[in-house]
Amino acid sequence: MSAWLSVDTDDETHLPSHRGHPHRSFQQMPTWRTEGYRASPRLLNATDRFIEWVSDGPQVTLFLIAEQLDCPEFTKRMDILLTMPNILIACHGWGHRCWSAWPEAVVEFSEMLIESRDRISAYAGSSWRPWFRAPGGYVAPWMAGPLAATGFRLDSSVNPSRWVNRKMGGDWNRVKDAMESSGVVERPWLTSQMGPACGPALSLFPFSLFAKQVWKKNSVSITNEPEMEDTIALYWHLLDHSRKHGKWTPPLASEIQGLG
Ligand SMILES: [Zn+2]
Repeated sequence: MSAWLSVDTDDETHLPSHRGHPHRSFQQMPTWRTEGYRASPRLLNATDRFIEWVSDGPQVTLFLIAEQLDCPEFTKRMDILLTMPNILIACHGWGHRCWSAWPEAVVEFSEMLIESRDRISAYAGSSWRPWFRAPGGYVAPWMAGPLAATGFRLDSSVNPSRWVNRKMGGDWNRVKDAMESSGVVERPWLTSQMGPACGPALSLFPFSLFAKQVWKKNSVSITNEPEMEDTIALYWHLLDHSRKHGKWTPPLASEIQGLG
């Protein structure tokens, strides 16, 4: 078993409490298309810390939000990451709309996938991979068909823990079946005996205690080929690198940690 490390590039504005969710957000989001994004100082600073950590570090896939390429300051930092052989770039949507929280919208979702794919792949060149992570983890079975039809080969949006199962109506098996029958590889997130272990759970007590243990145990060998069998998905957020006054790093096995 190898671990596949990925980082979502969400900014503060992409939190579901800000934008993208029909009930949880204070900003309206009438369509998926957003423009004029400018990165927050906190994200720019976190990206600088991430660049320091990952240069000569482990292989990492960045799940980029397509609208972020509107921001010259953020793109400048992505340019640096793009020169690194250990970095791949994949897609985390256009403006972080929480698709499965809204009514089924195959046409709009497909349009968003095409425009995001075209923008990010043109930017990332040979570092691009047709892999997707649903914003906020909001994934539903109807999203599998559009993903396959627009050339995405892998999805990593499923958080297979009982807490989230309840929130999402216990639909994870239907999501996995839909992906599989559409020919899309599904890579669910690592969990611990306590529940979620990736993303926000990394810094959310008490999940964080268990998360650190399973991360260390499962990150001895790293791969950037998640389409291969037997890979475990470990993910965190770029903004995490602003924690602990910029000293935060993901809780990887000590052999790997030393690389960064
Ligand atoms: Zn996100």
